[in-house]
Amino acid sequence: MSVDLIKPVIEVQGWNLKAGYRQLPNKLFSEISPSPVKDPEIVIYNKAVENLLGMNSRDSEGAEGTEILSGNEIPKGAQPIAQAYAGHQFGHFTMLGDGRAIILGEQITPKGERYDIQLKGAGPTPYSRRGDGRAALGAMLREYIISEGMYGLGIPSTRSLAVVSTGESILREKELPGAVLTRIAASHIRVGTFEYISQFGNIEELKALADYTIERHFPNIMEDSLEEARGPEQEIHSQNPKYLKFFEEVMNKQASLIAKWQLAGFIHGVMNTDNMAISGETIDYGPCAFMNTYDPETVFSSIDRGSRYAYKNQPPIAQWNLARFAETLLPLIHKDQTQGVKLIEKHLRQFPALHHKYWLSGMGKKLGIFQASKEDENLIDELLEIMKEESLDFTNTFLALTYGNKEVLEIRESQGFTDWRGKWKRRLGEQTESEEAVKQLMKASNPTVIPRNHQVEKALAAAVDNKDYSVIRELLKVLRNPYDYREEYEPYQKPPGPLDKPYVTYCGT
Ligand code: AMP
Ligand code: MG
Repeated sequence: MSVDLIKPVIEVQGWNLKAGYRQLPNKLFSEISPSPVKDPEIVIYNKAVENLLGMNSRDSEGAEGTEILSGNEIPKGAQPIAQAYAGHQFGHFTMLGDGRAIILGEQITPKGERYDIQLKGAGPTPYSRRGDGRAALGAMLREYIISEGMYGLGIPSTRSLAVVSTGESILREKELPGAVLTRIAASHIRVGTFEYISQFGNIEELKALADYTIERHFPNIMEDSLEEARGPEQEIHSQNPKYLKFFEEVMNKQASLIAKWQLAGFIHGVMNTDNMAISGETIDYGPCAFMNTYDPETVFSSIDRGSRYAYKNQPPIAQWNLARFAETLLPLIHKDQTQGVKLIEKHLRQFPALHHKYWLSGMGKKLGIFQASKEDENLIDELLEIMKEESLDFTNTFLALTYGNKEVLEIRESQGFTDWRGKWKRRLGEQTESEEAVKQLMKASNPTVIPRNHQVEKALAAAVDNKDYSVIRELLKVLRNPYDYREEYEPYQKPPGPLDKPYVTYCGT
């Protein structure tokens, strides 16, 4: 399939697109242009992301911007593609690919960073299967809110530049207004991209993808920095430990990412291998949600009937996904497969300890402990047990500990909680840091607001049902600085009332 040359190409200031991914073997992508939409209108636009990308605001937000961000016109320099990938969905291998997303190119920012610019909901591609290639306004606004919320919380994530309503309806269980989301990502290379090339490509093609990914995301992995990796095991190492180091770096990013999710009460909801980015960013906000009441078994997704992607399962699932990634790299790790397996398994086995290290350090900080050690695990576990037993709100419990028991935080003080508080205070007293420093650490580690499901739903309902985008704008403003404590945040801190139905998220929108 070739680029549709009839599509108008326009020059807009600030767009500086490259097409590095297109240097890779052809089977990794298809050339495809976005399909036009009837009546595009920008409904939400992100100035901060625009600045990051280095585009000219007047051009991007004006008429030309709308045409580009809806896919009706192509900015100069764009060579649009849909990426091929496979993946394990709920444990089963499947051929996938961008079925409704088209990458315009890679924007080089004024700082020299590279971001994929992707239009999600931009029409069918060769990977659409029976899908229409389109996306619903509510779902795209939801991705916008949550991804920007994650960014505000300091959790690596793809970000959102704009949502454009298309003026067209799409057919799901009922008719819904359509939209296109412009998403930016360090890249869209997934575990599933490696699974695809491992399944359908040869070793040269696999190597090309791995080398490209290393250069793009881990440029520090150079020959001369690999001396230590050779180490005493030199004999059993392959000639080039680069790919083992690559695996180690990807694993490290995932361990840190999943710990950050858990520390914020985030549940991705669909951690299939195609939704795990090699860059270590959170990607693909489908049925994700933030937990209110602490319960490690929490699942929101209507399709996750086996609770595979429950809150507490996220670390072992990340390790499972990394095992699939490891399998794809084996031919590059060692000529002899058995030796390769041995080498990479040694790394993979370290995942639980690595994740735990990040988690423990983060939990310590949430409690004002500067250097949490093994001895602090009991203290943390006891608190979590109390939170679970007493159905306490995850975010607000830490807030109450940080700021004192404000009424809005609704923390009940049981005997167990009071006893625990005594132990905690004693532990804090053992530190040399001042009380003020402890408080600052806790403030910086405990968000006062998260994108709570009922607030997100309220904002989406106003937008989708009444074309009222003010509620989303207000919510986004609050989510930009979630570690501040401001009076106007208080309505956003309230957990859903007891009469709210259990929250369920749905895919396929
Ligand atoms: P997701 O659950 O969003 O990670 O998507 C899983 C797969 O389904 C990916 O290959 C998507 O591109 C594809 N997909 C999702 N929605 C659509 C749609 N409306 N049309 C075509 N493909 C889709
Ligand atoms: Mg996906």
